[in-house]
This record gives sequence, C-alpha cells and structure tokens, in this order.
Amino acid sequence: MRVDSSFKEEVRKRSGQRFDACFQCLSCAGGCPVVEDMDYNPTQIVRLVEFGQRERVLASKAIWVCVGCHACVSQCPNRVNVPLLMDTLRQMALEQGVEVPEKRIVLFHRTFLDQVRRRGRIYELGLAARYKLASWTLFQDLIAGLKFLWKRKFKFLPEAVKGLSDIRTIWREGDGKA
Ligand code: SF4
Ligand code: SF4
Repeated sequence: MRVDSSFKEEVRKRSGQRFDACFQCLSCAGGCPVVEDMDYNPTQIVRLVEFGQRERVLASKAIWVCVGCHACVSQCPNRVNVPLLMDTLRQMALEQGVEVPEKRIVLFHRTFLDQVRRRGRIYELGLAARYKLASWTLFQDLIAGLKFLWKRKFKFLPEAVKGLSDIRTIWREGDGKA
C-alpha cells in the first residue's frame, strides 16, 4: 500500500496530539471492549497512522466501531489518546468522501453531531427517533425504548443548555460537520 508521508502530520495537527509515544505494548488492544469487531485493533491503527497508511486507515471498520469508552487511555502507559485519534480519523474519512463500510454507524454519528450542533447536548429520545426513522428500523428495539421511557432514563422533552451560542461558535470555528 502507498505511503502518504503527510498523513501522520495532518492527523497530529488536526487532533492536537502526538501518537509517536506509542511503543506497541498492545495494552489498548487487550482492554478494548469492541476489539473483536474491528478489522485493525487500536494498536495497529496507531501504527498504520505512523506508517502513513492513509487509505487503509480511513477505509477501516475499526475507526467506526470504536465507542470512545477511554478504556485504552486508562491502560496506556503513555496515555496515548486513541479515542481522540479515532474521532479525528472518522472526520477525515467523511471529509475525504471515503466509502465507509459501517453505514449505520455513520448515520448515527451524523445524527448525534447534528443534535449537539443544534441543542448543545444530546436529547436521547429525539436522537433515537431520528436515527430509527432514517435507518428504517423504527420498530426494532421498541420494547427496550419503552422500558427506558418507563424508567425515566429518557426525558420526554429536550433540556435547554447554558451558553448554546458559545457552543455554536466553537462548532463553527472547529468546522464541525455533521
Ligand atoms: S497502550 Fe498505548 S503504548 Fe501501548 S500500544 Fe496502545 S497506544 Fe501504544
Ligand atoms: S476508546 Fe475505542 S479503541 Fe479505546 S478501548 Fe474504547 S472502544 Fe476501544
């Protein structure tokens, strides 16, 4: 595969982090709860970025499967921020029009970011409804959703947040695209 020498630097600039502290100890891969669903484990993703493997990384399933739980960061001896790396790579994949293997995750990602942009936080019921409608899975998980409502895990109405205009400014300045 082609080596893209600008890739590593672009990721570093966009994330504001360096990833070359990684010494491939595999602790992150060992502790990741979703590693079995990834095509490359978190350690491999860090390594592929270092090796300038733009096409392989941006087309990977792993960057979409990561749930941002930070288990890897807490186990990393060098505190390498893998979820931040995954976030950066997801945004780059969308911007560069990469064919994403996990279409439903992308749809959820866009719906989630759109909620944050519009409301400043997540309105869970609205997020679930919009995602379910857009993915044609309205009745899937209906019972679970009703249980969440019954137990008041979901609020019926969205809550206002303070400083919404500040959040929108940050969004614009960061060029956050849903
Ligand atoms: S735990 Fe940290 S140092 Fe170890 S492989 Fe993962 S990112 Fe690299
Ligand atoms: S943040 Fe992502 S890569 Fe790290 S442990 Fe969680 S799911 Fe795995």
